[in-house]
Amino acid sequence: ARLLKQWIGRPLLDLKQIEQRQAIVEDLLDNYFERSGIIEQLTQVYDLERLAGRVAFGNVNGRDLVQLRTSLAHIPQIRYILEQLDQDIYRDFLAELDPVEDVADLIEQAIVDEPPLSITEGNLIRAGYNAQLDEYNDAMKNGKQWLAQLEARERQVTGISNLKIGFNRVFGYYIEVSKANVKKLPQDRYQRKQTLTNAERFITPELKEKEELILGAETKAYELEYQLFTQIRDQIKDQIKRLQKLAAKVAQLDVLQSFATVSEDNHFVRPTLSQNERTLDIVDGWHPVVEKVLGKQSYIPNDVKMASELDILLITGPNMSGKSTYMRQLALSVIMAQMGCFVPAKQAKMPIFDQIFTRIGAADDLISGESTFMVEMKEANLALKQATPNSLLLFDELGRGTATYDGMALAQAIIEYVHDKVKAKTLFSTHYHELTVLEQELPRLANIHVGAVEKDGELVFLHKMQAGPADRSYGVHVAKLAGMPASLLTRADTILHQLEGKEAPKTTATLKEVAPVQVEADDSEAQLSLFSPEVVTTKEPVGKEKDVLNEILDLNLMAMTPMDVMNAVFKWQEKLK
Ligand code: ATP
Repeated sequence: ARLLKQWIGRPLLDLKQIEQRQAIVEDLLDNYFERSGIIEQLTQVYDLERLAGRVAFGNVNGRDLVQLRTSLAHIPQIRYILEQLDQDIYRDFLAELDPVEDVADLIEQAIVDEPPLSITEGNLIRAGYNAQLDEYNDAMKNGKQWLAQLEARERQVTGISNLKIGFNRVFGYYIEVSKANVKKLPQDRYQRKQTLTNAERFITPELKEKEELILGAETKAYELEYQLFTQIRDQIKDQIKRLQKLAAKVAQLDVLQSFATVSEDNHFVRPTLSQNERTLDIVDGWHPVVEKVLGKQSYIPNDVKMASELDILLITGPNMSGKSTYMRQLALSVIMAQMGCFVPAKQAKMPIFDQIFTRIGAADDLISGESTFMVEMKEANLALKQATPNSLLLFDELGRGTATYDGMALAQAIIEYVHDKVKAKTLFSTHYHELTVLEQELPRLANIHVGAVEKDGELVFLHKMQAGPADRSYGVHVAKLAGMPASLLTRADTILHQLEGKEAPKTTATLKEVAPVQVEADDSEAQLSLFSPEVVTTKEPVGKEKDVLNEILDLNLMAMTPMDVMNAVFKWQEKLK
């Protein structure tokens, strides 16, 4: 997962490297059983990178080493599977998937199968690994046997069946007799050591003597185990380079097998990439995430066709028709392709992009003192300054965060700048339909639009990209879909019709002729005219009629009885008389 994240953040720029990854993905995709075998082995490999990190840092414990040993044990099997596949494709892996057997063997010989977390309290080192340690362990074991015998003997002698030998850190070993049984003890048999509510604890000189032996052996054993453990740890640390290399290779194989798996599950296709050719040709591409959410049946796939000499696609179309989705789907496909993964499409041919710049979505950065529009302009500026002819630019409705004419003027100037100076492949979506005439003047720009049809007054989105410009944005329709009050929508429709009847900056020629300062002046006029009474109120019903009409529009008929309707009509009649 960590490596995948890195690859997403840093896709490759080198064709040969991308193709090497693609070859492995394709091979793993074609060899299902081998891939399943690899997955099965990988699931039993622990996080090698983290384990190697702990070895390097010197803070591994016994359990880490057991995990390392278990992981290393699966490497030969993974190698074996890869050896059955095309040796050429996996040359790097076969060279670097080193099972580090010396380390695995050392851990196997030295560390018990289930060591505790602590490395200072013994029970880490396997019997037989160190003769001295075995001696200490024997002494401890004998001592403990002696204690068991003592307990049995004393129970017999005293006749107290629940007499027991216990241990605590303060008093060491003791003999414990319950209060009820204390009177059964022969006098002076033991020395009293501690009184509890329900029991008395005793010691004997013999017990203390043995205690010294046992505890002595235990302390020495713990110390020796710790020493041995640190030696083993250092020995493994000497091999850290090999472990790190192995961890990296295992992670790569894991990411590549997951590329193969998602590519198979989702029918992704291997893209053809080119370092010098600028043609972008994606057939029936889709957005891998949106498609998952909507379901395959509901998602309409789209082509992205940009011949070598075409730099800019100007995308128009209704709100909610899928313009942003289309742009993002291209960006995702490019990143996926340059990571070495297959892409969500039927066929894909693309250049290798050096950078992707996006200006998508509105977000303000109020904390650092920047408004939404400022952020938008800064991001656009960065793209214009840093992009090269090999970059991909995605501008989603650039310029919408300011007054109409300012926005449109900026949008047009940016398109012209990209066209003439930056020359990067660019997708530019806009609701400024006036910009679509740019196609006539800019040879490396083409219009495309997302289709929509109006059926019985309802807008039906086709989500299908088509050549040419869109005629309208259908913003009011989308507001209706969002459930805005009916009277508001009627009003918006009326204003829209009036505005459309009025002069508007219809051609680029008009915009081009206007100097920047005049654009500002024009704009303020246009902004004002939107609210100017003589423009928008001439044919509107006024007064009582308007009230009645609005009341009719706002009625919730489904919630009314016939009698309610009668009453309402009666009220209107009265009002209009
Ligand atoms: P606006 O201009 O309002 O920002 P837009 O044209 O950018 O809208 P998107 O945000 O891309 O529209 O898409 C709106 C919704 O349409 C998405 O959330 C998705 O559910 C649906 N959609 C987009 N593309 C497709 C597609 N190709 N097939 C089916 N549904 C789609």
